[in-house]
Amino acid sequence: MPDKNEIERRKQTKKDLRAKAKIEFENSLPISREKFIQLFDYLDENLNEFGCDDSLKLTSEFLQENEIKNIDEIKNWLLEKGGYCDCEVLNNVEEMFEEDAIL
Ligand SMILES: [Zn+2]
Repeated sequence: MPDKNEIERRKQTKKDLRAKAKIEFENSLPISREKFIQLFDYLDENLNEFGCDDSLKLTSEFLQENEIKNIDEIKNWLLEKGGYCDCEVLNNVEEMFEEDAIL
């Protein structure tokens, strides 16, 4: 049995790792967190209306409308996170932005 200090230490290490993963995630964002949240809202609204055509069409539209320049960088980032099309962005990427997401 690990003693009490050891258990505490392991808990702390886990916490540290999660905090570190979180910081790394935030640092990897190609646009601000706020913009991502707006993108998710935009996708949510428009997917209900138009559905997903298996591309990042709505995502691209949003980025263009917001005059965001690094669209390719953002698309690559989304692909890395499993966002292959507009509905996958909502399904796979949005949850990473929740406060207690486990990365
Ligand atoms: Zn889709």
